[in-house]
Amino acid sequence: MPQEAIIAADFQQREIPRRTGTAPPAATPLRSYYQTLYESLGPQSWWPAKTPFEVIVGAILTQNTNWTNVERAIANLRREHLLSPRAIGRVSPAHLACLIRSSGYFRQKAKKLKAFVRFLRDEYSGSLKRMFQTPTAELREKLLGVHGIGPETADSILLYAGAKEIFVVDAYTKRILSRHGWVGDQATYEEIRTLIESHLPRDVSRYNEFHALLVNVGKNWCRPRDPRCSECPLGPFLEAPR
Ligand code: SF4
Repeated sequence: MPQEAIIAADFQQREIPRRTGTAPPAATPLRSYYQTLYESLGPQSWWPAKTPFEVIVGAILTQNTNWTNVERAIANLRREHLLSPRAIGRVSPAHLACLIRSSGYFRQKAKKLKAFVRFLRDEYSGSLKRMFQTPTAELREKLLGVHGIGPETADSILLYAGAKEIFVVDAYTKRILSRHGWVGDQATYEEIRTLIESHLPRDVSRYNEFHALLVNVGKNWCRPRDPRCSECPLGPFLEAPR
């Protein structure tokens, strides 16, 4: 969930022993963050979904809300046998919106789900398999052209539903990397994605885990206010030489 404005404000509200500069560290490569988190927290088993289409539905519904609210919406869709592109295409927008109400912005999200399945039908005859056979860069551009799909959602779809080598950047990623001096407060989504992808081996499972691990850190330690650095697995990296 991009929350750049919130993150920018964070730094004005409290002091954190932040690093400065954006040059790639030599002594503490970013992959050490991954290794430390993986050893501390273990596999995160993302994405919590039963099918690629359910991942896509979740990626759209999780915009601007927490996962618990999304789970309730997905449970409603499953109960009504609506977790397929064809079923989403057929259900009325009003009923769809009602079922996903818990995820917030439910009318807009119903339109987004409808827009995605329309795109899938028109471009790939409704086949996710055909969609994911498209070269990744080309598919990414197409997804970004679908109503309601921004970079984070597109990359979540590509990585977690399509097993493509794309790193997903979110507000947690930006907050953590900014506090550690890897990126500036004004860094763009693409700058952060490129940075991480240039420092990690191109590997779907590693991208999958690292994103999930950063979300874990963001939720449990690296909060917008009063981050718990002394207890955080990444705490030693705040002071480590680079
Ligand atoms: S809470 Fe963890 S990730 Fe956040 S700034 Fe502190 S040490 Fe870094």
